[in-house]
Amino acid sequence: MTLADLVNPAILTQPVYEPGKPIETVARELGLDPATIIKLASNENALGPSPKAVAAARAALGEAQLYPDGGCFALRQKLAARLALTPPQIVPGNGSNELLELLGHVFLRPGDEAVMGAPAFVVYKLVTLLFGAKPVEVPLVNHRHDLAALAAAVTPRTKLVFLPSPNNPTGTANTEAEILAFARALPPHVVLAFDEAYAEFLDNPPDLRPLIAEGRHVVCLRTFSKIYGLAALRVGYGYTTPEIAALLHRARQPFNVNAIAQAAACAALDDTEFAARSARENRAGLAQLEAGCRALGLETVPSVANFLLIRVGDPSTPSTSSGPAGSGQSGARVFAALQKRGVIVRPLQPYAMPEWIRVTVGTAVQNERLLRELPAAVRG
Ligand SMILES: *Cc1c(COP(=O)(O)O)cnc(C)c1O
Repeated sequence: MTLADLVNPAILTQPVYEPGKPIETVARELGLDPATIIKLASNENALGPSPKAVAAARAALGEAQLYPDGGCFALRQKLAARLALTPPQIVPGNGSNELLELLGHVFLRPGDEAVMGAPAFVVYKLVTLLFGAKPVEVPLVNHRHDLAALAAAVTPRTKLVFLPSPNNPTGTANTEAEILAFARALPPHVVLAFDEAYAEFLDNPPDLRPLIAEGRHVVCLRTFSKIYGLAALRVGYGYTTPEIAALLHRARQPFNVNAIAQAAACAALDDTEFAARSARENRAGLAQLEAGCRALGLETVPSVANFLLIRVGDPSTPSTSSGPAGSGQSGARVFAALQKRGVIVRPLQPYAMPEWIRVTVGTAVQNERLLRELPAAVRG
């Protein structure tokens, strides 16, 4: 008997998530000074964390001998008040990634289907496969979710539909009217997971609370990793009907959100000025990157998130060619060239967009650095 015989077969074929490269890793691998490297690869907040959140996290560290409040009382109170919901409707998690996994625990069995866009956040597919269910991928149209096609992909086996808006990696959004009509037309055996990781970057994010109030099967997911700048602490949350929330709570670990993260998240919510400034500076940074790419003759996808897709190659050239600009692997090549120059971005071949890179909006200085390094990296 080999080890493989003992293993759940879903694990043997489970793909592995490829994260953005940490600065220290790139410094070690390429012999660069970490202080000269900038990371624009994981949609982190260019302004760092809210200083008030950092102060709260420091204070919480002094009580690190105590288990956290497994019920996240203060955080759920605060979120409920902010969203005009009740605490039993809120499920904090170890990043919103944990909420995605909890949805799998609660709803997915082998043979079930989960519908998702392609390209969309890869974790939807990973979670679906992990629970032995089948990912049903629906191509985006003009880099935007095609809601009619998503609806048409729903079958009697569909349990979950994942819809991110804005989407990662494209940065595109669907309108509130479109999303509400789509959600209202879903059959009752389907749960809609509406991923709002970047909602706070929008002026008027779609509001799905009326659907929740109607008792529809909708779970909205948010995170402190993006606009609140707390990605390292791993805290996000879902809000939904009290019935679905109770099911998600059953599937989670007793202390899934640590005390440092809870304290920091509460303080971050109170620091509305920081979140507003993050959104404002992000818009300015997006405009800077879009104008810079236009000046370089590089196509971008209009984004409403804190990242931008940039086409660095010509898809008309066959992907077997290994030449410079125009190569089918141009995203990977430009990614590597930028990395050598101390700028970490995200290649998009894992999302089947090998001509593109995804770049997080940085500070004005970081954006300028990227735009300065980009021409030589694209030329190869
Ligand atoms: C970043 C991101 C998340 C959030 O992940 P966390 O686990 O909260 O850090 C969720 N969904 C999408 C689409 C994202 O891009």
